[in-house]
Amino acid sequence: MRAGVVVTGTEVLTARITDRNGPWISERLGELGVEVSHILCVGDRRPDLAAALGFLAAERVGLIVTSGGLGPTADDLTAEVVAGFAGRELVLDERMEERIAEIIAGFARRLRFDADALREANRKQAMVPRGATVIDPAGTAPGLVVPTAGPTVIVLPGPPRELHEMWPQALDTAEARAVLEGIDPYRNATLRLFGIPESELAKTLREIGEQTDLSPLEITTCLRRAELEVEIRYRPGAEETCERLVDGIVARHGRFVFSRDGSSLDEQITELLDGHRIGLGESCTAGLLAARLTEVPGSSSYVAGGVVAYSDRAKRELLDVPSKLIERHGAVSPQVAEAMAEGALARFEADLGIGITGIAGPEGGSEEKPVGYVCICIKSASGTEIARDPVLPGNRGEIRDRSTTLAMHLLRRLLRGEEFPL
Ligand code: ATP
Ligand code: MG
Repeated sequence: MRAGVVVTGTEVLTARITDRNGPWISERLGELGVEVSHILCVGDRRPDLAAALGFLAAERVGLIVTSGGLGPTADDLTAEVVAGFAGRELVLDERMEERIAEIIAGFARRLRFDADALREANRKQAMVPRGATVIDPAGTAPGLVVPTAGPTVIVLPGPPRELHEMWPQALDTAEARAVLEGIDPYRNATLRLFGIPESELAKTLREIGEQTDLSPLEITTCLRRAELEVEIRYRPGAEETCERLVDGIVARHGRFVFSRDGSSLDEQITELLDGHRIGLGESCTAGLLAARLTEVPGSSSYVAGGVVAYSDRAKRELLDVPSKLIERHGAVSPQVAEAMAEGALARFEADLGIGITGIAGPEGGSEEKPVGYVCICIKSASGTEIARDPVLPGNRGEIRDRSTTLAMHLLRRLLRGEEFPL
C-alpha cells in the first residue's frame, strides 16, 4: 500500500512559507511502514486540488493525506473539493457547529468580532462530506476522514501544530485503521560516514551488489552537512541482507564510519564532552561552532565559552595570539589556529580549546591560501592535539558550515583517542 500527500496553500506553492507538513506526514507514514509515492503541492484553486487527488487515485494509492484549506475564508476549499472527489454532498454537522461555536465564543467576546460574520464562518467549517468521520479541531477547523471508492482521504488543517495534534485521532478512526491494517513497519539501519566522497560509496554498493542480491533493500544515500548518510529500509525477512551490506561497507570504509546506530555527530559529542570544559576561539566561523555545541540542552555543563576573534587585534587581545605569529605566518595559518586554541584553553580555564581561522570568501583568497583554506586546531590541557588545514569546497556559507562540522569531527576523534589522517 502506498500513500500520497497533498499540501495546499498558495503561500506554500509560492515559497512564501516553507512546507513543513509534507515531510512531517511522510515521516510519520514511513514509520508506520507506508511508502509515500508523492508529495504534491497545489495552490488554493479548486481544479488544481481536484487534479492532484485524481492523479493520486490514478496512481492507485490507498491513502491520501491533505493539509490546509480548512479555514473559514473563501480560499479554504479542501472539504468541498474532497467531497466532490468522494462523490458525497456537503452536509451541516450540527454537533460540530456547536463545538466550533464554543471554541470561538471565547475570543470573539474578547476581540468583539461581528457575531453574524462569525456564525457564517463557523457554519462553513462545520460543513462535512456525508458519511465522513469528523476529527475534533485543535484550532477551529475540524479534520475529516473521508472514504471514497478509491483511496481513503484524511483531511487536516494547515497550521503544523494543529495538524500534529490531530494526527493520532485521524489514525485512530475506523476508516484509517482499516487502511493501515496488516502493514508491517519498515526495519531500518543507518550508517553515517565522514571524509569519503559519494562516488566511493557508490562503487562499494556496486561491488557488494555483485555478490549479494540487494533488491530487498531500499538504499538511500544522502550528503548532508558534508556527511554521507546511508539509510537502509527493508521489510521483515531481509535482516541478513542488510547485515551483509552494513558489514561490507564497514569492512571497506570502517574508519570513515562514525555512526552505526543512527546517532548523530552532535549526540555523540554531547556524550563525549561530559566531564570536560571547552573554550573556543573562532574567526571565520564567528560563533557557529559555539552555537552548534550549545544547541543541545545541558551544554552549559561543558561549554565554558567562546570568543569571536575576527580581527587581528581581537586575536591578540582576547586570545593572546602573539603579533609576531600573525606577521610571520598570516592570520590564517596553522600556527595562529594553534595559538587561538591555546588562548581559548587558557582564557576559559578549560581542558579543551579549539581555534578556527580561515578564508570564507568570496574575496581574500590567494594562490597560496585560496578561498576555503581553513586552519583548525584542537588542544587539550593534557597536551594532546589534533590539527588540520584543508581547502574546503563551496560558497561562503558552505565553507563556514563545513569548517564547523570538520571541527566537530576532529573534536570527536580527539576525545575518542583516534588519530589518523583525513
Ligand atoms: P486556518 O483555519 O488557520 O486558515 P487552514 O486549514 O485553512 O487553517 P491554511 O489556511 O492552509 O490552513 O494555512 C494556515 C496557516 O498555516 C498558513 O498561513 C501557514 O502559516 C500555516 N501552514 C499551512 N500549511 C503549511 C505547511 N504546509 N507548512 C507550514 N505551515 C503551513
Ligand atoms: Mg486558511
